[in-house]
Amino acid sequence: MPEGPEIRRAADEVEKALQTSKVLEVSFAFEALRDYESLFANSEVVRVETKGKAMLIRFNNGYTIYSHNQLYGKWYVRKSYNYPKTNRQLRLAIHNEKKSALLYSASDIEVLRDEEVDFHPFISKVGPDLLNEHVTVKDLTERFTSNRFCKRKWTSLLLDQAFLAGIGNYLRSEILFVAGIHPELRPIDCTTHQIEKAAEAVITLMNRSYKTGGITVDPHLAERLKAKGEKRSQYRHFVFNREGKPCRVDGTEIRKITAASRRCYYCPTCQAKMI
Ligand SMILES: [Zn+2]
Repeated sequence: MPEGPEIRRAADEVEKALQTSKVLEVSFAFEALRDYESLFANSEVVRVETKGKAMLIRFNNGYTIYSHNQLYGKWYVRKSYNYPKTNRQLRLAIHNEKKSALLYSASDIEVLRDEEVDFHPFISKVGPDLLNEHVTVKDLTERFTSNRFCKRKWTSLLLDQAFLAGIGNYLRSEILFVAGIHPELRPIDCTTHQIEKAAEAVITLMNRSYKTGGITVDPHLAERLKAKGEKRSQYRHFVFNREGKPCRVDGTEIRKITAASRRCYYCPTCQAKMI
């Protein structure tokens, strides 16, 4: 399932394709949106923003197309009016002279006036998106220690899009490992040092995963493991999907638990429980 970094990469690709020239045509699969199609002829795409797993395509005609990929949505960028071979249903197509940006399978697509965007039910609730906004370690430490969030477990907070946008299951395990935080802890149980490390880990890992296309271990380690012949699926993470394998720092066996109904991985030594 794509997380924030994967959506931001898709958004970069869509933005690049759509900014090459004026829009020729937009078509929607959903009947309720068809009346909007004529509004987009000859419009220009100003930018493509992301808010976690939601994408906002901003046009110069005062309208924004909102889409949320949920579990199955997938973007394809192709030469103009070229469609991929797929069994997926085409839901939104944006064409210009050179390129087509095609969204398949997503069911959550809306057309909003620009001034309505901030009041949209998802956008108005969602937390800051580090890949789209300038967010500092200080902003994050304040958020982690606020009354609103400090008494909830990290494992539930990190998946809550109202806390931070764009973190999904693999990033959750990886962030807690890098911060040295046991998955059963809450921010209120942590030292100031751990809170700061968590803030740094969120920023570093979101950006790294965005740049590398989903690799969370640091680049030197990735190179070393690759040189040893490990496959991408074997070297890409510190703990996620590595149950029973040795910790990359101290060799302890990685454990898997279920937290907030999703699988979560951790190292019992690096992430000791200290309540
Ligand atoms: Zn360890």
